[in-house]
Amino acid sequence: MYWVLSDLKWPEAEKIIKQIDLAIIPTGSIEQHGPHLPLINDYALAEAIARAAAEKSKSKVLIVPVVMAGVSEHHMKFPGTITIKSETFMSILFDVAESLKRHGVKRLVILNGHGGNTPSIQLILRRIREELGLTVSAINYWQLIPDVIDKVLESRVWGHAGEFETSVALYIYPDKVAKKKIRKPKLRKLSLPYSNPNEKVRVYLPINWEEYTDNGVLGDPTLASAEKGGILINALLDRIIQFIESFSSY
Ligand SMILES: [Zn+2]
Repeated sequence: MYWVLSDLKWPEAEKIIKQIDLAIIPTGSIEQHGPHLPLINDYALAEAIARAAAEKSKSKVLIVPVVMAGVSEHHMKFPGTITIKSETFMSILFDVAESLKRHGVKRLVILNGHGGNTPSIQLILRRIREELGLTVSAINYWQLIPDVIDKVLESRVWGHAGEFETSVALYIYPDKVAKKKIRKPKLRKLSLPYSNPNEKVRVYLPINWEEYTDNGVLGDPTLASAEKGGILINALLDRIIQFIESFSSY
């Protein structure tokens, strides 16, 4: 069961915050997702997943929708992308956590939908715990189901706006997917060894997306389907719910 903080009137917020087990802040990005997925994809999916998990769980959850944009410098060559600096992103999360704490929230889950936010979230979780004394955790939802991904997806590299994200988007909001624009990207080979973002053995290079893919996609979205998306979503919802329910008394 859940409430969305921004829809409440303040006397309702006062009452509900006293009852909840935890708050969830969905995070994502406003960044290019190839020619077929909307810029809001990462945030919209994270929020939809947060709502679906909260709805099905036994926990009482407050969803706090406040940070749509994320750390997306590497996508800035593609028009429409909005990036906020890591420091800004961390400051927003910290300030939101502090506000929630001042109103009585005790447990916080950051439900993240964008890989580029991960280092910042890991850093700020530590500060939120140490400086605010909140019980905190963060979920990159795709990391909860590597076994299911291996079984369901055909492509080895399911990447960005590829088979994984496109399948999930086709399941959650098919009307927002430009199905006729789905196309496999032309990938450029990077000249340095171990520099391919697709490989497991790799060095880290702060590459920008246009150096690597012509249309912003990494992976093969032509293999995506709503059916695959449904299997992935149901599997990850099960695990998020299992986590949230345990975290409620942690
Ligand atoms: Zn994405």
